[in-house]
Amino acid sequence: MDYIDRFGVAPGSKVRLDRIDADFKGKHEDQASALDELDKYTKRLRELQYLLYAEGKRSLLIILQAMDAGGKDGTINHVLGNMNPQGARVYGFKVPSAEEAAHDFLWRIHRAAPQRGQVAIFNRSHYEDVLVSRVHGFVPEKVWSKRYDLINDFEKNLVDSGTHILKFFLHISEDEQLRRFKQRLDDPDRHWKISGADYEERKYWDDYTEAFQDALSRCSTAHAPWFVIPANHKWFRNLAVSQIVVKTLESLKMEFPKPTVDIKEVKEKYHEAEEEEAARNGKKAKGKKRKKDGK
Ligand code: ATP
Ligand code: MG
Repeated sequence: MDYIDRFGVAPGSKVRLDRIDADFKGKHEDQASALDELDKYTKRLRELQYLLYAEGKRSLLIILQAMDAGGKDGTINHVLGNMNPQGARVYGFKVPSAEEAAHDFLWRIHRAAPQRGQVAIFNRSHYEDVLVSRVHGFVPEKVWSKRYDLINDFEKNLVDSGTHILKFFLHISEDEQLRRFKQRLDDPDRHWKISGADYEERKYWDDYTEAFQDALSRCSTAHAPWFVIPANHKWFRNLAVSQIVVKTLESLKMEFPKPTVDIKEVKEKYHEAEEEEAARNGKKAKGKKRKKDGK
């Protein structure tokens, strides 16, 4: 199944999250049946990121947004865990610092945009400025309502400069969120993740849903699409995100840069002895093989 088509938000369409099944897992029964596919995308992701780095011509920006406990951290671990850290970075956007708050809302975001050859993953992003800021009224409507167009223009600017943007909304159900909070309570290793604020924010579930729907509907563009990923099953979420990132990178038709030196000449000049040795060994090995094969 092509998850780009399946989960991509068509530009101009109206997203209704209650009509999207957070439990969806495609043709797969369970995690075990998806392992081979996941493994394939994971390996390919590594190769493609290396190619992006080597080519050094364009960059990739992955934006993750979700309700609390939606799985941003897990997705980052999975996707980034398979990349070479030299070419990939994660940026988490929390409540703006005094310095950040004294600038326009895109200032801190633009500074974190990936340079050519690099992948940047945003754990939360400029979308917080039309989500939490809207839900809690940190700024008046006349301010946040203008931000959708500002965001689209900003992202267009990045895309025109060679950045490819993929935006993932990890869609979990309200029940699943509560289950995950409870798991945190039951597991001492996860106690540090619990905050009273998370339970408080649950009261605003419907307001967040409305704010997310507007952000997804108004800011899914041909140049910077949103994907709504069913995320109640963590393994399915990882599979869908990996496939979309892999297919996007594959569509770029990247190529390793041409060597800056004459490979043959360098071999002859600096590796003549080794080359001859290898050639001799090669002949011997072939000879032995022939004997063994009775040829
Ligand atoms: P975890 O899932 O591990 O809890 P987190 O991303 O929720 O990670 P927290 O430190 O718990 O990290 O929360 C960061 C907080 O910062 C969130 O409540 C988020 O809404 C808030 N935040 C991010 N950007 C902005 C912004 N531009 N304005 C106001 N609040 C923001
Ligand atoms: Mg949190």
